[in-house]
Amino acid sequence: MVVAVDAGKTKFLVGVFNGKLGEVERHRIAVTTAAETVAALESHLAALFERHAVTGIGLSVFGPLETDPRRAEFGAIVGSSEPQWSGVNLPALLSRRFRVPVHFDFDVAAAVSAEARHRTPGSGGFVYLSIGTGIGGAFCPPAGALAPAPGHRTDPPQLGHIQLARESDDPYPGSCRFHGSCFQGLASGRAIFGRWQVPADELPAHHRAWDLQARYIARACTNLVYSSPFTTVRVGSGISQVPGLIARSNDYLRTFMNGFPETLCRETFGSDVIQRAVTAPDSSLIGAAIQVTEGSGFKFAPPR
Ligand SMILES: [Zn+2]
Repeated sequence: MVVAVDAGKTKFLVGVFNGKLGEVERHRIAVTTAAETVAALESHLAALFERHAVTGIGLSVFGPLETDPRRAEFGAIVGSSEPQWSGVNLPALLSRRFRVPVHFDFDVAAAVSAEARHRTPGSGGFVYLSIGTGIGGAFCPPAGALAPAPGHRTDPPQLGHIQLARESDDPYPGSCRFHGSCFQGLASGRAIFGRWQVPADELPAHHRAWDLQARYIARACTNLVYSSPFTTVRVGSGISQVPGLIARSNDYLRTFMNGFPETLCRETFGSDVIQRAVTAPDSSLIGAAIQVTEGSGFKFAPPR
């Protein structure tokens, strides 16, 4: 059995998977303080290790992460936009406590590895966007293209912090502590709560919040189509499940691109540019399990 942990900013999901990625059980831990959350995670994992023969732990973690194994902080969350998590080293803690290999990666990189399994041979690559408490993203190369091994690749881009113009009917200043009104500052779960004072998952589907949200997603995706070689953006996390949001975002994207350039629009208008991620909303959790079954991600060996 494999234990997968999707360590997010508001919740940790813990899943037990068999070697064929079949999910056996799942548990959710609400994030409070870092110390309390880690203690709850450790005690839940201890119970799982009693019940299952666990061969490894896979971790999907929000970044920035220290991924250079030569550094003492290897595995730690560093300089995060979440100050209370800065310096917390989940892979080191868990490998020491449970004495199994711990594979870890950025949550978006793990999600991409889950999504990449749903590419048909010869299909193009795509941009993956996670729109949750924060916003993150990564690029998935076309099937057959060589992906660089961990240690030889760069960290995922900061797609959540691309700069968007604020919509004229939106007085909300933005929630990003670095930029105010960047993509994440305007369209993350935290921004939605800040603007409407209602959690995103409690807003009804007809609320005008979703029209604004569709415009911000479409603005960001227009920029991504214009600045990357990809014409598909797969959206994961909880927001991808909101009824009609993806379709409305595609409508706005066509309006914003306004037929330019014609060659690109012929391709993008022929199919939906913005798609719900196939593995949403569990992409990062499944990706965490894949790291163990495929031996991918960054690896923290248990101390001798
Ligand atoms: Zn920002």
